[in-house]
Amino acid sequence: MPHLVPAFSRIGEENAFAVLARATELSAQGRDIVNLGIGQPDFPTPPHIVEAAVKALKDGHHGYTPATGILPLREAVAADLHRRFQVEVSPESVMIVPGGKVTMFMAILMFGEPGIEILYPDPGFPIYRSMIEFTGATPVPVPIREANGFAFSAEETLSLITPRTRLLILNSPANPTGGVTPKAEIDRLVAGLARHPEVAVLSDEIYGTMTYDGETHVSLLQYPEIRDRLVFLDGASKTYAMTGWRLGWSVWPKPLYDAARKLAVNSYSCVNAATQWAGIAALEGPQDCVAQMVAEFDRRRKVVVEGLNALPGISCITPKGAFYAFPNIVGTGWKAKALAAALLEEAGVATIGGPDFGVYGEGYLRLSYANSTENIRRALDRMREFLTKRRAA
Ligand code: PLP
Repeated sequence: MPHLVPAFSRIGEENAFAVLARATELSAQGRDIVNLGIGQPDFPTPPHIVEAAVKALKDGHHGYTPATGILPLREAVAADLHRRFQVEVSPESVMIVPGGKVTMFMAILMFGEPGIEILYPDPGFPIYRSMIEFTGATPVPVPIREANGFAFSAEETLSLITPRTRLLILNSPANPTGGVTPKAEIDRLVAGLARHPEVAVLSDEIYGTMTYDGETHVSLLQYPEIRDRLVFLDGASKTYAMTGWRLGWSVWPKPLYDAARKLAVNSYSCVNAATQWAGIAALEGPQDCVAQMVAEFDRRRKVVVEGLNALPGISCITPKGAFYAFPNIVGTGWKAKALAAALLEEAGVATIGGPDFGVYGEGYLRLSYANSTENIRRALDRMREFLTKRRAA
């Protein structure tokens, strides 16, 4: 029998992929499934980005690149961050990685070990907790509350820091809630972190270009007082509809950068070369494709929120970012995971139960509105019919 090290009994996964697999299976059996489960833009990658990758292949970019990524892409990332946040970022601190996830994987590996604590948002992206547990560190959930508009609370976050805390994970705009934390709250958090200089921060800003209602995304990069302990996570997956390309980037404080580079050298070597050239086209090319996608998400957001609030037993606050709605389903009488399963099997609507994002997700469903308005309306109609029939199951 091969012997797997015990850490693998603690590693988790993303249930969104299991829901996708089940939805695909049901579709293959001929069922008509509306998929509001998966968190990826339903748009194709803009053509000028695809063209840049094709050109890179034709031009012979077939070999390894530096492990940290090609310099013109690191420069394009630095310029983009300056354009968006008016901050100085050296291309020497930018690391190109195969997807946003890889930055969190690396950062959590760098800080996690038995006896230390890592704070992470709950409900939140499931990989945070999974990776924390994998390292043997203690995961400490920071509750993300509907009453707070699904923003994180600076006061509550700071109150959970102990002498064993080494890393604090933040995510705004957030998956799964669509919550955006206001600048005043981030200001308070950063001010409070001055009392905890040993706590590093991982800021997951993968949805940073997707905010609505005039909300401006505030980046943790804009706080010079924590730059020496901030790991900034971003990437092309959501902003440029490039989930399958596997392209992310991060900004690291100097002492951590070399550790990240070594993890790359020891695992994937470098990001696919053609993908990196596509990344340059994405960042340096016209940004109206991003504005168009965000405007379309905004239209769908209104449809989904209005529709959810008209369903029996469901209420939904208006998410200010990302492309998720996180309706409260307590009034339906259903537990969240049972409702998600029944909606998929019986009504043909794929959603994700809130508990797949942590214990504080009970009582909620996550719906991704990265789907056509027509499909969103079909899903809402099916949910209405289902809930009217099966209200007090
Ligand atoms: N961070 C958050 C909050 C996400 O929701 C996701 C993807 O769903 C990621 C990171 C990972 O993105 P990528 O597909 O680029 O690895």
